Amino acid sequence: MTEIDRHETTDVLIIGARCAGSAAAIGFAREGRSVIAVDRSVFPSDTLSTHTNFPSSVAEFQAVGALDRMLAHDPPRCTHGMVEADGARCLQKFAAVDGIDYGICLPRPASDMAMVETAREAGAEIREKASLEEVLWSDGRVSGAVVRERDGTRVRIDCKLLVGADGRRSSVARHVGAERPYRGSRNERGCAFWYMDDPKVGTVWRERLIQLRSGDTHALIFPTPDGRVLCLFMGPAVDIPAFRKDPEGMWERMLNANPAVRERLGGATNFSKLRSTGDNVAFFRRSSGPGWALAGDAGHFKDPIIGQGMRDAVRFGRILGEEVGPVLDDPAQTDAAARAVEARRDRECNATYHWGNRESRVFGVSPVIQEALTDLDGQDPPLLLHMFDRIQAPHRVLNPLRGAKYAARALLRRGVDRRAILREVLEEAKIDRDVWREELRPRFRSGRITASERADYAWPPRTPGVARAEPPADRAAGLAAAEEATAAREPTA
Ligand SMILES: Cc1cc2nc3c(=O)[nH]c(=O)nc-3n(C[C@H](O)[C@H](O)[C@H](O)COP(=O)(O)OP(=O)(O)OC[C@H]3O[C@@H](n4cnc5c(N)ncnc54)[C@H](O)[C@@H]3O)c2cc1C
Repeated sequence: MTEIDRHETTDVLIIGARCAGSAAAIGFAREGRSVIAVDRSVFPSDTLSTHTNFPSSVAEFQAVGALDRMLAHDPPRCTHGMVEADGARCLQKFAAVDGIDYGICLPRPASDMAMVETAREAGAEIREKASLEEVLWSDGRVSGAVVRERDGTRVRIDCKLLVGADGRRSSVARHVGAERPYRGSRNERGCAFWYMDDPKVGTVWRERLIQLRSGDTHALIFPTPDGRVLCLFMGPAVDIPAFRKDPEGMWERMLNANPAVRERLGGATNFSKLRSTGDNVAFFRRSSGPGWALAGDAGHFKDPIIGQGMRDAVRFGRILGEEVGPVLDDPAQTDAAARAVEARRDRECNATYHWGNRESRVFGVSPVIQEALTDLDGQDPPLLLHMFDRIQAPHRVLNPLRGAKYAARALLRRGVDRRAILREVLEEAKIDRDVWREELRPRFRSGRITASERADYAWPPRTPGVARAEPPADRAAGLAAAEEATAAREPTA
């Protein structure tokens, strides 16, 4: 074992203190447990995310008590959501979730700081610039960890439960042998985004979270505080190297390809650096074991295109604390409770995981999608937005009856490729069949490959078209550093 400078004891040791880690810290602390959460970052600190929260996500921040701190930054409260696909538009007003009827897009330094402060207020100790070095075992059970603090001190911390809330490249997962997902899906889309001054300040566009689809690329536009706006392009992942090489050129190309984006953001100025990634493999990991649990992205990641990651990280982090906190003095009950939380997460996230896999395929705007958007436009209840708010699952909103209606309408259109429509309908029907099957007969940690999954994902993930250097000895740290280094040149548009 590594040489130790100090020895401490706590009920719960959490590695990572953003959405999942702080939420878990709050959950355990509220149950009267002593909590130490360590993070190698110093807050406020940024991380790669487009940080859009739909009402159900805002409601989770409210549930842990962090919302007031977030609202103090005055993010635009977006009461409407809109999806447009080459002129076919669906605009709806969000339904309220736990009294919250608006979404927000607050940059991560402010949002994560709000979580850290709330966790501290709840009684958790949050240590910054401190990293996991080693996981300690005793009689086949995790019994603690060695943490290296900012001054180089190595602290041995014994605990009843070690929580890995350390993101997709989780070191905790690696140490406990759960690094390789038991199921996952290759993402065909990449993410490239900028912040800029919003040319539509003072208009209704500041109240809308929107997705503008054209060709094979989706543009997602989210108003942020201080008159800024975030614009994310999710096109083929193979485009990411081109974004990094020529951000200005790609911005122009995107505007030319999608007139609706030009209408919304044409003339925008004061661009941030481009941020981008092509590494978006969706996955489930084994997330509980003797004396350990994984929370947030460490245990499960789904495609960012549907904007659900922060919600689930906060929700299941909190629930872990609430469910495991009361039984923490009994190791067998602790492990059973952590396993039950994992099973609940899987049940609640399964349909959304498949939806993310669907949306992360590269496909063009189809007449069926256009018919669906036109039909759902303006509807109350807002079924399209219910999918983002987890009020109704996608396979229930776009159920066989509605699917048949939209397909029939699309087939009746003039000049459409009917074979392509039938192929699309067949592909969607296969995915729906598998999602329904898993809903009706759930199997814990099933590795069965279903129709939504592209199981040929690379692990560890990599951006298509970008060569990866030889991994350093500490592979997880190396990957995290590579992710941080995604910034490219600033466009001057
Ligand atoms: C491009 C992109 C866009 C996204 N957009 C959205 C969106 O719009 N809406 C949404 O809801 N979700 C979005 N997500 C997903 C969302 O960002 C994540 O689901 C969320 O950040 C998960 O939170 P977390 O706390 O689990 O992990 P993270 O936010 O990854 O935090 C992990 C923390 O662990 C710390 N850590 C890691 N290793 C160690 C170690 N060894 N020792 C100490 N500390 C360590 C890190 O410093 C970090 O602070 C997006 C993701 C990506 C990649």
